Amino acid sequence: MNAPLPPSRYTFSQRARNINSSAIREILKVTERPEIISFAGGLPAPQGFPVEVVQAAYDRVLSQQGRVALQYGPTEGYAPLRAWVAEDLKRVGAHDISPDEVLIVSGSQQALDMLGKLFIDPGSKVLVEAPSYLGALQSFSLFDPAYVSVPTDEGGLVPQGLTDERVRDARFIYALPNFQNPTGLTMNLARRQELVERCAAVGLPIIEDDPYGDLRYAGEALPGLLGLGRAVGATVIRLGTFSKVLAPGLRLGYIAAPREIISKLVQIKQATDLHTATLTQMAVYETVKSGFLDTHLPSVRELYRKQCGYMLDAMAEHFPATASWTRPEGGMFIWVTLPEHIDSSELLARAVQRNVAFVPGAPFYTDEVRPNTMRLSFVTVPEDKIRSGIAVLGELIRQS
Ligand code: PMP
Repeated sequence: MNAPLPPSRYTFSQRARNINSSAIREILKVTERPEIISFAGGLPAPQGFPVEVVQAAYDRVLSQQGRVALQYGPTEGYAPLRAWVAEDLKRVGAHDISPDEVLIVSGSQQALDMLGKLFIDPGSKVLVEAPSYLGALQSFSLFDPAYVSVPTDEGGLVPQGLTDERVRDARFIYALPNFQNPTGLTMNLARRQELVERCAAVGLPIIEDDPYGDLRYAGEALPGLLGLGRAVGATVIRLGTFSKVLAPGLRLGYIAAPREIISKLVQIKQATDLHTATLTQMAVYETVKSGFLDTHLPSVRELYRKQCGYMLDAMAEHFPATASWTRPEGGMFIWVTLPEHIDSSELLARAVQRNVAFVPGAPFYTDEVRPNTMRLSFVTVPEDKIRSGIAVLGELIRQS
């Protein structure tokens, strides 16, 4: 007979112990069941993935430069891709970015983790929008910041919310100007201008996270904070990603920032993973270098526009007048505000029994939580299921 195994002995770091598993994550696990109509996921629509084009790019890279593509590479990233990104930033109004101000990362989620390492000591003040992207809050929280939230409304982040008291000793403000995750709202131009001017005046760095900017299907494109900020002397650190314009499985994104910040981030990235996969960087460069996105993105935008329309139509038909919701001009999310007495996590439990799922709003807040909110994603669900899923939610809201 084998001797019993000794009990395992280990002590998790305080950091790891601080991570709590959320009740919502447990409920959302069931949403992977095929019968569930899930408005919960943040996944891009797979019909939009240019599989053959990416495959051909990988084939070309491997057959023409295979031994380079399979080798280690510089931490900063593949030089032609950095140069492509620097040039591409002109589209968002940043005209003077040099390739050495660009660092390639393994998805912008990695950038959020690296920025947490760069800026946050335990107790450091960090400004976030209310509500903000949950994944960023998870990344930053590993470094134990003291969050201070800045109000948002229909026009996005409210720059007047950057009071002297709020900005004092803050390490940065994390802002999502386009089709924000979770609200789908966009910061208007006047607000963008005011934000960069205020941040320049008080020396507050801005982290601009913009994964959805290229997915605009209505309204006018607005200049990003990077270009506006540079013009007035603000420090802007811009995060971009190929996840929503090509495919998230590539795990490829970038950070554009002043050189001193990039060089510190390079040290951090080196310690994290040496560099982002060379083969992926080369294949993505091969995919985008001759303007592929210009022909590809219109079809993705059209798909998302239609999907968004199906959901807005269904909501107008089935949701009671006591609920209100955002009408995004791009991106993947609609944000719903229910009557104050409804807690959307309770609604979720009932919705899951009826095979419908969404993400309750509470976890997107760091303080002044509004439990009567929820996020709906419309991009991956077929039209008929959007209609039937929204009808179920409408019925449950009315019964609440
Ligand atoms: N920022 C925001 C606002 C997001 O919505 C996401 C993806 N859901 C990310 C960052 C991370 O994206 P990725 O790591 O795929 O680039």
